[in-house]
Amino acid sequence: MHDAIPTTTLPNGGTVPVIGQGTWHMGERKASAAEEAKTLRHGLDLGMTLIDTAEMYADGGAERVVAEAIRGRRADAFVVSKVLPTNASRDGTTKACEASLKRLGTDHIDLYLLHWRGRYLLSQTVDAFETLRQAGKIGAWGVSNFDSDDMEELFAVPEGGNVATNQVLYNLNRRGIEYDLLKDSQARGIPIMAYSPLDEGRLLRHPELIHIAKAHQATVAQIALAFLIRNPGVIVIPKTGMPERVRENRASVEVHLTADDLAILDRVFPPPARKMPLEMI
Ligand code: NAP
Repeated sequence: MHDAIPTTTLPNGGTVPVIGQGTWHMGERKASAAEEAKTLRHGLDLGMTLIDTAEMYADGGAERVVAEAIRGRRADAFVVSKVLPTNASRDGTTKACEASLKRLGTDHIDLYLLHWRGRYLLSQTVDAFETLRQAGKIGAWGVSNFDSDDMEELFAVPEGGNVATNQVLYNLNRRGIEYDLLKDSQARGIPIMAYSPLDEGRLLRHPELIHIAKAHQATVAQIALAFLIRNPGVIVIPKTGMPERVRENRASVEVHLTADDLAILDRVFPPPARKMPLEMI
């Protein structure tokens, strides 16, 4: 028996599992697309129902892989996609969303994000998001790569307070958001979606993490993910194209770090002592 995946609550009252699945680099090679879709379906079977994608990934190829994964079981999935900043005008956002819906083979995206800030006014993008939401084409909207000052600007825009998540770079090597953004988001009830939670694989050979993992009879990936999801309101979206790694990542909910583990992690990966500008990949 496995522990159920804990959930976190979005501002609209909906719940999502705290471990989802990333899709960056999926759909880049035709030969692997079917296997990638199968891996995502395996994750759905295990309760990792939140799938994160973007129009940018493989120029729409990742959304096509997601389409294949959710075909015939749309209700099992919570699909997150993103509009590129270069498309994020009022009309451009609507067109980009329609194109994503087509590639995803669905009539709605559960959560639609602005991938990062660009030259268009936030008020334009938010206006388009709200119109899409009212039309039922998206369930909720959010942002990505927004630092604290960007969030303040967003809250000042009409209906900007309807933001449902901020997806940012967060892992043991990149703890900058712990200084302010994480606490502010928790206080407002806006989940943080941690991208590159394994630092794109860079964390996996760290000797101290290997040591902690051994003590828990766990893997380094599980320690890295458990560290993040112990924070209330944090969702992780590791990407893997391998079913056995999907199972491994899912089982990180069974790893409970001790106060001693956390003290070691703070020594090896120090938390921020001052404001750090938000890093992004
Ligand atoms: P990541 O999830 O930190 O790491 C992915 C890498 O780790 C892949 O090379 C994967 O290889 C490997 N991996 C995954 N699970 C593993 C395990 N249990 N053991 C060993 N290796 C493992 O990096 P990411 O893909 O950059 O980030 C995750 C997702 O966040 C992306 O896919 C994307 O959806 C999203 N993202 C968003 C933004 C943004 O700007 N909003 C930016 C970056 C990423 P295999 O596939 O070979 O297993």
